[in-house]
Amino acid sequence: MTDLAKIPVTIITGFLGAGKTTLIRHLMQNPNGRRLAILVNEFGVVGVDGDILKACADDSCPVENIVELANGCICCTVADDFIPTIEALMALPRRPDHILIETSGLALPKPLLKAFDWPAIRSRLTVDGVIAIADAEALAAGRFAPNEAAIEAQRAADGSLDHETPLSEVFEDQIACADIVLLSKADLAGEAGLAAARAVIDAEAPRRLPMLAMTDGRIDPKVILGLNAAAESDIAARPSHHDGDDDHEHEDFDSVVIDLPEVTDPEVLAEAVRTLAREQYILRVKGFVAVKGKPMRLLVQAVGQRVRSQFDRPWAQSPRVSRLVVIAERHHIDPVAIRATLVAPSGA
Ligand SMILES: [Zn+2]
Repeated sequence: MTDLAKIPVTIITGFLGAGKTTLIRHLMQNPNGRRLAILVNEFGVVGVDGDILKACADDSCPVENIVELANGCICCTVADDFIPTIEALMALPRRPDHILIETSGLALPKPLLKAFDWPAIRSRLTVDGVIAIADAEALAAGRFAPNEAAIEAQRAADGSLDHETPLSEVFEDQIACADIVLLSKADLAGEAGLAAARAVIDAEAPRRLPMLAMTDGRIDPKVILGLNAAAESDIAARPSHHDGDDDHEHEDFDSVVIDLPEVTDPEVLAEAVRTLAREQYILRVKGFVAVKGKPMRLLVQAVGQRVRSQFDRPWAQSPRVSRLVVIAERHHIDPVAIRATLVAPSGA
């Protein structure tokens, strides 16, 4: 097997009660052909989230793929607990296709993200995206979370927590690190509440952030986990046209397929993808790109402005065609502008 692809990791942040476990349960029920592994960081109320998730274990996420990191805040125990735990997941007899990390609500995502630069981790894992869940109903009412007292109790219960970070700063950090924000309890918040919650996050966000309303953890898994294997092989065969009609269940997204000429400099393309995310309502980009002089195809993936690419396998089995699928918020997709942004810098 010549697949050099790193295992993608999605980090899910959000305060206690925001809906992290509910989202993960939804993803476990809709894995789109992926084998999942899950790392749950919890303490204080030990075992609750882990037990809920283990009760949902099935073939695509067996119980041994769900591990709890219960000795304290994930960002404070990176070296002692996080690294060995994630290494245990990488060593599973059947390699997971995607790892989800549910951080404790008080964890700061920045130190956790840094851990992915450790040599032992960097060569085998890649951060696919950071998803922040914010409780829209609570935000609209001027709170960070549904029950701030419960969060303080959680803080008191963690002996290893080495930051006294106020909730406002934890929230700021979660938003600053996020690639996509999910506004949970959208049904309870209502339209006005959602608008108020969006305004709170807009004020906090250092850049334009995609924000999607979510109820009961229901969100299209391709936005969180990426396109599934079937869709990937489809990328090579699919004609370049406006599609988005392959998924009648979810009405929130649209996709467009963009063919590119060979690129000379992958970094220029990566910058074009970042520009796209800054200027348009892009959720995800995925595809394979032919680079001049390279026998391997370049796998390109982006979530918001987080772009990663790697040469994953030779072109041998498929035609040497550069093709990217772009997923954007519905009604905000502009195929002409997307094409212009992506194709122009490739020098064709
Ligand atoms: Zn911490």
